[in-house]
Amino acid sequence: MHMRKQPDKAQAVKVKQQLKANLSQSGFHFTQQRATVFEFLSSVEHHPTADEVYLAVKNQLPKVSLATIYKNLEALIEAGVASKLNYGDGSARYDIRTDYHHHVRCLQCGKMWDIEPTESSAWLKSMKSPAGFQISDYRLELLGTCRECRK
Ligand SMILES: [Zn+2]
Ligand SMILES: [Zn+2]
Repeated sequence: MHMRKQPDKAQAVKVKQQLKANLSQSGFHFTQQRATVFEFLSSVEHHPTADEVYLAVKNQLPKVSLATIYKNLEALIEAGVASKLNYGDGSARYDIRTDYHHHVRCLQCGKMWDIEPTESSAWLKSMKSPAGFQISDYRLELLGTCRECRK
């Protein structure tokens, strides 16, 4: 799923129905909270942490708790409409995309953005891997400093 632009009304209804279908396929109910979490994830590009999702959703649904946000995020992941990025250090970040793509991560603020996979993986074959290890895939995370943090 990938839709970052502000959807029009018909599109918004379609997205909602799709979300409903995906949730129910995985045995989850469609709730206002889940829809709000999903909408927030769809509206930002930097792959927020659960805390950031919580703060944003709390603005709209003041009664929500952080624990509930975690549960809602897990439900979205299990339903296959979002993914969780764990890169060892720092908090997990959440991604509305579930398709194959790579990321850049800012070492100052921890935010992550998408980069599209390139077609050539020739460089991959030139990398040295342990004896007997067969490479089937790769995930790329480029590290650096984002525009905001460079100011
Ligand atoms: Zn930054
Ligand atoms: Zn991503």
